[in-house]
Amino acid sequence: MDAIVLLGAPGAGKGTVAEDIRNAVHYLHISTGDILRNAIKEQNPLGMEAKRYMDRGELVPDDLIVNLVNDLINRGGENARYMFDGFPRTTAQAQKFDEVLASLGSKVKHVFLLEVAREILVRRICGRRICRGCGAVYNVHTKKPKVEGICDFCGSKDIYQRADDTEETLNNRLEVYNRQTAELIHYYEKKGVLVRVDAEDRLETEQAIVRYLNR
Ligand code: AMP
Repeated sequence: MDAIVLLGAPGAGKGTVAEDIRNAVHYLHISTGDILRNAIKEQNPLGMEAKRYMDRGELVPDDLIVNLVNDLINRGGENARYMFDGFPRTTAQAQKFDEVLASLGSKVKHVFLLEVAREILVRRICGRRICRGCGAVYNVHTKKPKVEGICDFCGSKDIYQRADDTEETLNNRLEVYNRQTAELIHYYEKKGVLVRVDAEDRLETEQAIVRYLNR
């Protein structure tokens, strides 16, 4: 059981980077945000509970997330390799995560902190649009579909903005990050597993992480 973590503010590029490098580095990409959004789509009890927090840009309760990750890890088997994106988000989650991993004889191997200036985070997040058909990610400033309103990959005309990607909710998410998640930087720094990555340029970020993992 091997675990690495991508840490960083909303918009730092955790999800994009994870999707782009997962095959090259042989890690499964686990996004707790994606798992929760799927639960909302399915309208199952987890989704109904999580939606109340997510719509406001708040974190869902630690217990809920820890149970979710616990189940996932226990189903994965001892040779599984996980790259977590959006988890852990609080020190309580990180401590529980360490306990679960320790019980399996493992620990967090590396934590890549994706560092990006605030103006760039805002531009990336508020400009982000997603295809409902295939999940492809666009940006109104930097990456429009070739034909306006139509997905390049699956042809869907349903390209939408995530409810929590508006400027108002984003301000709250950034505040939540600074208040609850940023302390994880010190947590993992003390453990000697934090790797800082300048994440302004997507390709350079990915190359830096892949290089580090293959060193
Ligand atoms: P993300 O897609 O990672 O930006 O997550 C979207 C939203 O899902 C967050 O704003 C939280 O409401 C919720 N969420 C995702 N991961 C976690 C987590 N580890 N702990 C608490 N809430 C989470």
